[in-house]
Amino acid sequence: MRVILPGATIGLLGGGQLGRMTGYAARSLGYDVHVLDPDPACPARAIASRTITASFRDAAAASDLARGTDVVTLEIEQIGADALAAVSALVPLRPSAEAVVIVQDRLRQRTWLDASGFPVGPWRAANSAAEAEAAVAALGRSVLKKPVGGYDGRGQARVGLPAEAPAAWVTLGSGPVLVEQFLDLELELSVLVARREDGAMATYAPAINHHESGVLDWSVWPAMLSPEVSHRAMRVAEGIATSMGIVGLLAVEMFVTRDGRLLVNELAPRPHNSFHHSERGASTSQFEQFVRAICGLPLGSVDALRPAAIANLLGDLWDGGEPDFASAMTIPDVRLHLYGKASARPGRKMGHLSAIGATVEEAREKVLTARERLRLAR
Ligand code: ADP
Ligand code: MG
Repeated sequence: MRVILPGATIGLLGGGQLGRMTGYAARSLGYDVHVLDPDPACPARAIASRTITASFRDAAAASDLARGTDVVTLEIEQIGADALAAVSALVPLRPSAEAVVIVQDRLRQRTWLDASGFPVGPWRAANSAAEAEAAVAALGRSVLKKPVGGYDGRGQARVGLPAEAPAAWVTLGSGPVLVEQFLDLELELSVLVARREDGAMATYAPAINHHESGVLDWSVWPAMLSPEVSHRAMRVAEGIATSMGIVGLLAVEMFVTRDGRLLVNELAPRPHNSFHHSERGASTSQFEQFVRAICGLPLGSVDALRPAAIANLLGDLWDGGEPDFASAMTIPDVRLHLYGKASARPGRKMGHLSAIGATVEEAREKVLTARERLRLAR
């Protein structure tokens, strides 16, 4: 296993908030950080000693990033295959191009999960309006998802009746879609696995996640689940990380349905919004763990030191001007995390609040109360 020691330079494909927070951890461990992102004002610019402004499809720019660094990783899956190959030819790319290519297309990802024997809900692929209609006829109430480029609930359409499917298919761009049966959810959880090149793993216990309109709203950790469900979720996530040969982090979003099934929803081979509370509650934050895993350092403890919660801050909060951060911060143990994004659009993730508490409920109450204060201040 090639170990990349502190003092080396880490290249990041993607300079969003995940890259920024990874960068803080990398810097803290003594690494330098270079970033490639299409946006010259990307959030990770603040922590990078070099920022390359280029498209994620620009193989020459990706080579340029790789040449100046000792290892390259990513904080977004939507990197062009040529750019991934260009990096891999020069330095270790962690996770590998093969893993990223499977994850970056929802249809490819779902096909792989199903064929590999991991539990997923009923689904179909549809390449035409007629196929979309037939899929909804077979599955019942469904969600149509674009295979590439969707996030935070975007690029999806919910359909109740087969006759509504053709219009939804057109809305999503008249290309291939993943059609999933709409599931009756008891709760949503996520598991985070860190894995090194030599196969060593450290797995964070599940977080419970609450979404509003398809966007993560709050998350708590560690989840108060039955030990049996927690254990099963962690073993499924480890199985996926191992089969896929992940080096770095793998976040696995899962559903628990009202009829008791544990199903995989989607994968992310990078840090994840639903583990931001690891900075407060866990012995090792997901960002430090990510750096340790891609650099081949010993993985840190994933012990829960104390219950923790986060609540996301979306651009809508900026509607009437700058939120009143000071009043949110009067609540003990609440911490503000802003990503340094210049323009606040509705639905855009601008930051989050985190808190610790005696219980996860208490931690969640603190972040939700703090967020209300942001709104009420005006
Ligand atoms: P994104 O990449 O936008 O996070 P997801 O597939 O995770 O896409 O969907 C976002 C949210 O929409 C999920 O967290 C869940 O709340 C809801 N959702 C997605 N698929 C289904 C489904 N098949 N049944 C019920 N709810 C779903
Ligand atoms: Mg999701």
